[in-house]
Amino acid sequence: MAGRMFLQTPGPTNIPDDVLSAMHRPAEDFSTPAFIATMTDMFAQLKVLFGTDGEVFAYIANGHGAWEASIVNLLSPGDHVLMPATGRFSLVWRDMIKAFGITYQEIDNDWRSAIDPQQVEDALRQDAGHKIKAVLIVHVETATGAVTDLKAIRRAMDAAGHPALLIVDAIASFGCHELKTDAMGVDCVIAASQKGLMMPIGISFTAVSKKALAVSKTVTAHREYWSWETRMAMETYRRFCGTAPMHMVWGLMHVMEKIRAEGLDAIVARHARLAEASRRAVAVWAEGGALEFNTIDPAARSNSITCVRQVGDTDMNKIREVAREKFNVSLGGGLAALMGKAFRIGHMGDLNEPMILGALGGIDLALKYLNVPHGKGALDAAATYLAETA
Ligand SMILES: *Cc1c(COP(=O)(O)O)cnc(C)c1O
Repeated sequence: MAGRMFLQTPGPTNIPDDVLSAMHRPAEDFSTPAFIATMTDMFAQLKVLFGTDGEVFAYIANGHGAWEASIVNLLSPGDHVLMPATGRFSLVWRDMIKAFGITYQEIDNDWRSAIDPQQVEDALRQDAGHKIKAVLIVHVETATGAVTDLKAIRRAMDAAGHPALLIVDAIASFGCHELKTDAMGVDCVIAASQKGLMMPIGISFTAVSKKALAVSKTVTAHREYWSWETRMAMETYRRFCGTAPMHMVWGLMHVMEKIRAEGLDAIVARHARLAEASRRAVAVWAEGGALEFNTIDPAARSNSITCVRQVGDTDMNKIREVAREKFNVSLGGGLAALMGKAFRIGHMGDLNEPMILGALGGIDLALKYLNVPHGKGALDAAATYLAETA
């Protein structure tokens, strides 16, 4: 195969060559003052990155590990939570909660929409006895492409005067949408390395407010490996409950340097702009009547992924297969209820204008190759927008 395969899956995402290079070195003695200093610096920098005066915990795990860490440190068996549905990821997280003996009440979702803050407020107002211990929000639902307005959720919780913790799955949003833990009143932000953070899979995070840290001390759930208390012990060695993933530490240090150089706000703006280019193209393709946006409300279409949904019986798997096998663009498929009904364009992390145009170009080729009815001029619409906003 000549040239590069374009990785436009919504995780994993492109790992920049300089991040790979930063990790390409021999292992070292982890007990040296130099490595301990690096670890100490890393955790200090993580607190800045996530915007919290609380703590950031890092795990040698994918996002599912950080999900579990948030549950066992913040909720006890028998606790009750409010869990607005968003799509497949909220369902999997919910099932995990159930497995820990926690009860939940759901707010329904059509898998095409963000969470409605009014419904959150209403549910909290009805809970006069404050039985609900936490509100669990998937910020960007990677299965549907919808982003929930976290500030509106925080306002809804405040308006209801409810003390529940706000726990946010930001695995697909961190580094793509604005998310400042303390300033936005979030008690626990869950993130993972392989999406907006441009890293290999295998390190995940919980950024935790002071309020949540205090709650974690009262929790009765069994925990040891995931325990925040264990991980806060004095020796740096305990921060990972065992040997630190040195290469991930070096990679992450380099990623944080890159993020500082570009600026987190500028990174969010870049994501918004590249996502809009993707949406401009999808809007034109949709004129052919064979596909449409999965997320109905334009304001709820995320910066992280665009989920494109079939109209009628358009074979979305075939489009995805041809894009990958013939034109070297890897897309995400439809998940769970959207299986076979959608493809997803990931636009998170290390991405620039020609990369998104290349990805859109591969999709355009697949539509033409398969004779899928589509509006003409999608690439021009995307390029025009990018040129106008440069
Ligand atoms: C990817 C993703 C997960 C799961 O992360 P893993 O690293 O695959 O365990 C959870 N939630 C959201 C919103 C995601 O995008």
